Amino acid sequence: MENSKEMRTWLNDLGLDHPLVIAGPCSAETEEQVLRIAHALKDTDVTYLRAGIWKPRTRPGNFEGVGALGLKWLQRAKEETGMLVGTEVANAAHVQLALEHDIDLLWIGARSTVSPFIVQEIADALKGTDKVVLVKNPVNPDLSLWLGGIERLYTADIKKLGVIHRGFSTYEKSKYRNIPEWQLAIELQSRFPDLPLICDPSHITGNRDMIFDVSQTALDLNFDGLMIETHDDPDNAWSDAAQQVTPDVLIQIMKDLKIRKESDAEAEYNSKLGTLRAQIDVIDNGLIETIGKRMRISDEIGQLKKQKNVAILQNKRWNEILGRMILEGQEKGLSEEFILKMFKAIHQESINHQEKILKA
Ligand code: PEP
Ligand code: MN
Repeated sequence: MENSKEMRTWLNDLGLDHPLVIAGPCSAETEEQVLRIAHALKDTDVTYLRAGIWKPRTRPGNFEGVGALGLKWLQRAKEETGMLVGTEVANAAHVQLALEHDIDLLWIGARSTVSPFIVQEIADALKGTDKVVLVKNPVNPDLSLWLGGIERLYTADIKKLGVIHRGFSTYEKSKYRNIPEWQLAIELQSRFPDLPLICDPSHITGNRDMIFDVSQTALDLNFDGLMIETHDDPDNAWSDAAQQVTPDVLIQIMKDLKIRKESDAEAEYNSKLGTLRAQIDVIDNGLIETIGKRMRISDEIGQLKKQKNVAILQNKRWNEILGRMILEGQEKGLSEEFILKMFKAIHQESINHQEKILKA
């Protein structure tokens, strides 16, 4: 697949002077709930009302969505408020029902994007549609799998496309529910600049207090829009209670977010600079994260050495590491002097850590 301007026309045609906002509850629970939320979001910057009808739950026994009945509620919300509506589809039957109920936007969830069979089934069922179709990233950080999903849709003559970055699952504990590997989204954007890129801070954070910051980072990285789970009584939501915000909070978030306007040369320069700086910030955070991880492993080695009563400094091993890193550095255009300085500093920090452990 090649970058194609066609993928973006639906977004341009909306003629927004702000990022696209898709908002609404994680799950449609009752008709009244959907209508209350829709009315609270109409006449705001929200363009699409979202609600999950079929809910993919990690483990059985949780609320699995109201099913096709909820499509009628979305249709009614659309009639009453004039908003466009969207929901998640996970198989051909869902697609058919969604199309019958004139749902404007369909998205493929993270647990579906991992399966080429499911994505192909959805693409076949949607063939040639003029509805907007968005592909969430797969739960695992695999850019090819994500792009593969888009390719399957594009090949089925579905041209109103976009992707949603909702973060990636990990075994490691983190402050995020799903880690936002921003580098992946940045790479996708540089390969397909015309593929609309939307961030879902709700599923990235799992925590309503972090929605603003993650949304701002996304806009700084030139994302085209946000999908934010919004519920009129978040604490009592039937799914994803901790991450949903009220319509009032959403309106405040949309007001506070800084959007970079590219209206003249100066603004364009600032916008480019802002994007590049945001990329650097992401990488710097990653560096600290990686060095922290290295130190934790070094601590474990310290424990082992303590048990066996072995000396901290192992010169042979250290010289091997340095030699290897100088060569790797050369390939990346980094000077020997810099590599030596950097690794000496890292090594010293490692020795300090291990000394502390041996003395403890
Ligand atoms: C959702 O948007 O409600 C959802 C289930 O998201 P994800 O596929 O990102 O987990
Ligand atoms: Mn959800």
